Amino acid sequence: VTCFSGQSVALFGLGGSGLATAQALAAGGAMVAAWDDKPTSRGKAVEAGIPVVDLAEAEWSGFAALILSPGVPLTHPTPHWTVEKARAAGVEVIGDVELFCRERALRAPDAPFIAITGTNGKSTTTALIAHLVREAGLDAQMGGNIGTAVLSLEPPAPGRVHVVECSSFQIDLAPSLAPTVGVLLNVTPDHLDRHGSMENYAGIKERLVAGAGTAVVGVDDDWCRAIVDRLKAAGRTVVPISVDRPLDEGLYAEDHVIVRKTHGLRIVLADLAGIGSLRGAHNAQNAAAAIAALEAIGADELAIRRGLASFPGLAHRMEQVGRAGKVLFVNDSKATNADAAEKALAAFPSAIHWIIGGVPKEGGIAPLAPWFGRVAKAYLIGKSSDAFAATLDGKVPYARCETLDNAVAAAAADAVASDAPEPVVLLSPACASYDQYPNFEVRGAHFRDLVLALPGVAPVGK
Ligand code: ADP
Repeated sequence: VTCFSGQSVALFGLGGSGLATAQALAAGGAMVAAWDDKPTSRGKAVEAGIPVVDLAEAEWSGFAALILSPGVPLTHPTPHWTVEKARAAGVEVIGDVELFCRERALRAPDAPFIAITGTNGKSTTTALIAHLVREAGLDAQMGGNIGTAVLSLEPPAPGRVHVVECSSFQIDLAPSLAPTVGVLLNVTPDHLDRHGSMENYAGIKERLVAGAGTAVVGVDDDWCRAIVDRLKAAGRTVVPISVDRPLDEGLYAEDHVIVRKTHGLRIVLADLAGIGSLRGAHNAQNAAAAIAALEAIGADELAIRRGLASFPGLAHRMEQVGRAGKVLFVNDSKATNADAAEKALAAFPSAIHWIIGGVPKEGGIAPLAPWFGRVAKAYLIGKSSDAFAATLDGKVPYARCETLDNAVAAAAADAVASDAPEPVVLLSPACASYDQYPNFEVRGAHFRDLVLALPGVAPVGK
């Protein structure tokens, strides 16, 4: 990153992507003074040749900018303080996405840049767009809030497409964010601890699409509808997306079919039936947004349809890991609360062998009672077992399995012996994992390993 060449910049937060940012700045000729409250992180910076400076003692007039790493908790005292001091001294406070935008402006201002945000579905949509871009024969660089830090990707270059997931935090720290295509999926209450009010949170999300060449916006919630009205009033190019109702302009989903109305004619753009990685209405929203983004950069319809059909999906989110005859094994370990588990239960009509449990959220699985009819049997693991057994009692048969090993063995045996046409063994635990696992990824990987070790299970072709 050369935009601070020859200048001094302060950087707060030396986790993985913070360190990558510091190195990118240093490589571009900036003098970086970095800090992190964690001594181990500071040690890594020193090893990497990045000077560590206690920013509490720093003379701010010497810095051109303060760079905040993604994920620095502004609610904590030291970063909070540091930002206050920088602002008081008139030093701009920016993040890694801003650095990327400045670099792009210098290197390849016309190269397609697709930025994605929303409360839910960001990662799926980002991965899907990157997959479609590749399927269209282009070089896709995917990262940001998902996977690789944006400054660790290959740099902007003509013909290269950057597909970047942006958190609210990253948008807030990127004043010159102006992507070729901005995608805003939805805005629902979440993370308000960090952003104060819903108005503030929605306002930050709006900035990503307000600066975009084409704004692709889901219109199934009130906040996004208001945003679309403002964008239209300002004369921006907007593609609205709905999975709730037909639209006269933009794209909408009718069940699993994505449709556009052109001169009153209903044009079918894609049929998601049979695409296992894109099951459910929420994925129709993600897919419609991805199609609109690809159209906006001029991708060919056929390549889009081919890419949808071959999308492998993201690990741990309704991931189809294996099959044993008619039995399907699905890893939805990312479902750490009842809301997410509900989407999984909604995606399978019946014969669900449901593995649940861990550290429950408030309310447990009681809100899922309307879906219990789809569950053939529940297999309880982890700390929540007593509470969940009480909720299921008399409504759904269940077995107390304690561990995932026991649960997979029991659920697989029952599902294989079942005479239902399409039994599913579903890990969608509606709980955090940390009573038994470091995180949901490790839990999901364990499930996948257990499933693939069962006799007669074949991996689902990716
Ligand atoms: P994010 O990156 O925004 O957290 P993901 O793509 O990782 O979102 O999806 C996480 C979970 O959110 C999924 O397992 C699913 O339950 C739910 N989800 C995905 N897409 C949507 C959507 N468009 N609307 C609502 N919920 C969604």
